[in-house]
Formats: sequence, structure tokens, C-alpha cells
Amino acid sequence: MLRIVPIYPELLSIYADRGNVRVLAQRARWRGLPVEVVPLGLGEELDPAAADVILIGGGQDRDQALVAEALIAQTPALRSAIADGVPVLAVCGGFQLLGHRYVDQSGRETPGTGLVDLETHAGTRRIIGNVLVDVRLGGEVHTMVGFENHAGRTRLGAGVTPFGRPKVGGGNDGDGLAEGCRVDRVIGTYVHGPLLPKNPWLADQLLSWACQHRGLDPVLETLDDRLEAAAAETAMRIARTESR
Ligand code: GLN
Repeated sequence: MLRIVPIYPELLSIYADRGNVRVLAQRARWRGLPVEVVPLGLGEELDPAAADVILIGGGQDRDQALVAEALIAQTPALRSAIADGVPVLAVCGGFQLLGHRYVDQSGRETPGTGLVDLETHAGTRRIIGNVLVDVRLGGEVHTMVGFENHAGRTRLGAGVTPFGRPKVGGGNDGDGLAEGCRVDRVIGTYVHGPLLPKNPWLADQLLSWACQHRGLDPVLETLDDRLEAAAAETAMRIARTESR
């Protein structure tokens, strides 16, 4: 049984990030894979052996502060799952909490898990808009589509690779040079949408890694993604034409 584990979805699912959970589950079901969604609630302990893909959604500053202590307490379990090959997708606030800290505009510091060497400080202007990001994954270059809405400016540590390079959008700190982070199967990104419906290639990479972790065939049956491709194409057209 594949287990999809969203972390604190009742607080970290801003801008429809819970859609990412539904897409992974549905793309598994379309392939006849046994799958269940096992949300981790505040106060519950993550069992690293009972997760095949972990999702951490975005949140307002206050939601991040509410979950930080509980999330930090899960760091050993998260580290163990990651070391065992469990993929992690962390979006925006979730991405920021992969790092050492998030400092909001008032200067209030929310500690992070420190799982990835990065740090985020809020800027005075929110970075908002549709995004297009060049992502190299699985030996192919993809155009990731979605939108961003964050005050945070994230700096990656020297050994941390960006997930992609923005073609449209501000990226990690507004300079448009780097978007997200990737360390092996841990992916952080600022891209909401939700992200996965219009980026099925990313959903399937996460699902393939999850299958591999669970001892299932990581080669997935091809699905008819014409609808997903049409949605992505529309998003690309809008992102290319809108001015910021
Ligand atoms: N509160 C964080 C910020 O403003 C994250 C926002 C989000 O998750 N969209 O940068």
C-alpha cells in the first residue's frame, strides 16, 4: 500500500496546496496502485516507515508559527524517511520550514527543521504572480507552471541546488535566478496552483520514487494527460503575457 502523508494539512494548505495530495492519490488509483492518504495532524508522531511520499503545504506566517514546534519535533522522523528514499514535496511555507528559520516582516523568527541548508527572511514587498520555471528532472527539461505569493526571500546554502530557474517570476528571493531547492528526493518550491495538476511530470516522478520506496515497480503506466497539458499550456500563455 502506497502511503501519501500530508503534514498538518489543516494548517499548511494555503492556495489549494491540498490539491497536490489528491492528484498523487488519483494518479496512483488510475494505475490500479493501492494507495491511501494518511494526514499527520498536530500532536501526532510521524512514523517514517509508514510514509512513501511526504507533502508539506504552504501557510500564512501565523500558521507557520503555529506548526513550527510540532514540525521540528518530527525532524528525526523526517530525516529517517528521507534517508530511506521517501520523496518530500514542500511548497512555499513548507519549503521555508525545511530550512533553519523564517523571519517575518516584524522580525519575529520562526525556527525551521534545518533539514535543508536554507534560510528565509520576509521582504517588504510580496512576490505575487504566475510563474514559469525551467526544471531539469529525470533527464528531461520541463516548464513548471503555477503561481507564487510569498513575502519570504529564501537564500540557499552553498551545497543546495535550486529546483529550477525562473523564466517568468521572482523565484526564491525576487531576483529571478533560482526557484526552490532540490536535495536528492527532497523538493522545495514556491509554486502553488496547486502545483501538481498542471505539472503531471512532477507528480509522476514523486509517485515513481514512492513506488520504488515501497518495493513496487517505479515504471508507471502512461496516462492520457491531454487535459493536464491543455491546462499547463493555458497557464504558460497567461504567464508569458501578463506584466508584473
Ligand atoms: N508566510 C510565508 C511568506 O509569506 C509563506 C507564504 C505561503 O506559504 N504562500 O513568505
